[in-house]
Amino acid sequence: MLHVAVVGSGPSGVYSAQSLLQQSVLSEVRVDVLDRLPCPYGLVRYGVAPDHEKIKSLQNNLRAVLEDERVRFLGGVQVGPDGVPVSRLRELYHAVVYCVGAATDRHLGVPGEELPGSWSATEFVSWYSAHPDSVADGFVLGARSAVVIGVGNVAVDVARMLARGAAELSPTDMPQAALSALAESGVTEISMVGRRGPSQARFTTKELRELGSLPDADVVVDPEELALDPAYLDPSELPAAQRRNVEVLRGWAATPPRGRPRRIRPRFFLRPVELLADAGRVGAVRFERTVPDGRGGVTGTGRYEDIEAQLVLRSVGYRGVPLEGLPFDADLGTVPHLAGRVLRDGVISPGEYVAGWIKRGPTGVIGTNRPCAKETVTSLLEDAPVLVRREVAEDPLTALRAEGLLPVEWSGWQAIERAEAELGAALGRGVVKLPDWASLLDAARAAGS
Ligand code: NAP
Repeated sequence: MLHVAVVGSGPSGVYSAQSLLQQSVLSEVRVDVLDRLPCPYGLVRYGVAPDHEKIKSLQNNLRAVLEDERVRFLGGVQVGPDGVPVSRLRELYHAVVYCVGAATDRHLGVPGEELPGSWSATEFVSWYSAHPDSVADGFVLGARSAVVIGVGNVAVDVARMLARGAAELSPTDMPQAALSALAESGVTEISMVGRRGPSQARFTTKELRELGSLPDADVVVDPEELALDPAYLDPSELPAAQRRNVEVLRGWAATPPRGRPRRIRPRFFLRPVELLADAGRVGAVRFERTVPDGRGGVTGTGRYEDIEAQLVLRSVGYRGVPLEGLPFDADLGTVPHLAGRVLRDGVISPGEYVAGWIKRGPTGVIGTNRPCAKETVTSLLEDAPVLVRREVAEDPLTALRAEGLLPVEWSGWQAIERAEAELGAALGRGVVKLPDWASLLDAARAAGS
């Protein structure tokens, strides 16, 4: 019997569990999927935008794995010094796969970044996704103009959520408070600003194109600014993904605005240098105009432009955080590894593995985690004949309970799902997420979990 703990129940964690079930020649494999939260699915539940129902429906595929009889979901279990230490987990299981993602956001490092009204996109996403750790509120209160810094898919998500109206948001599972605030939002100008050119933007074409289909928003681009990018004028040499992005932008440049109530303005070649205060809050972002340097980067021109903003969302990527007891490469924000095997001082640490963003950094779409998890599990199963020789707890869950832990099991999660359906019905909506720890744990405990 091979006992494996997977830490994290987002896509990389669940795909690791699935790969273990599929690839294991040992029929006797047992996988415990641990999560700090009482709810599974990681960023599929707490990162994918609520209006992306199709991507959210991936939860059904992940659910099938977590409901396999060889898998247990153990929610509400913190791994680390405040919960189960890494060393204890190692004693309880033959192998541990860390799939803890990239839990924080990168910083801009410019003056004014911490002004009231300036938030990381992650804080905004957590709020409208009902993440129980989200305490922030009042993002759009009193704001007319928003600046989103960065041109990746998260930037597109947050710009789109700001531009959607109540009728489009109401069918989602967004918490009621966020829905009310966004429905009443007075934000009409949404600038989404990249420091490089349109051919270097990180968003994917499908996500970019969607901005043009929002019923309440025009997308407004300045062809002269786009043309600062030589590849905008002649995109024929670009790789297909970038060429398609440029073609979408060219289409918008040729389309006059239709007078819709909100405007999304993709901007390029503007590097943020300072957030400017107005009456103690952010009032504008100062950007330096850049130009391409011919090597994929940009150089500053010493010319500046201020864009008004009472709301600033910094969407410049995620970053992994160290987990006490595991090695960490502070430069890369990842755990050092060889094909998924954790390296301690350059040497393979038997029985410890990583998959997902903590392994390869915060890049790729959800599906990228499948081959990533598969590689890690292939390494693990190669090592399994040696790993199973070590004596571990007969049932790790019994041991954890004896140590005072009360994990939220699958029945507890199902009770949360029922409570969310009931809340939605009471509000005259579909499923509506419970937004805080108390209501999630109350619902789970009601099921005796
Ligand atoms: P990302 O794709 O890495 O984009 C980060 C953006 O921030 C880039 O435009 C980057 O510009 C910019 N940036 C970084 N540092 C900056 C600075 N100091 N000043 C100004 N701009 C700066 O990150 P993300 O948007 O957070 O997305 C993370 C991952 O999740 C991506 O793989 C993404 O595709 C994925 N995701 C997918 C979906 C979806 O499929 N619908 C939705 C959300 C997220 P440079 O390129 O110049 O560095």
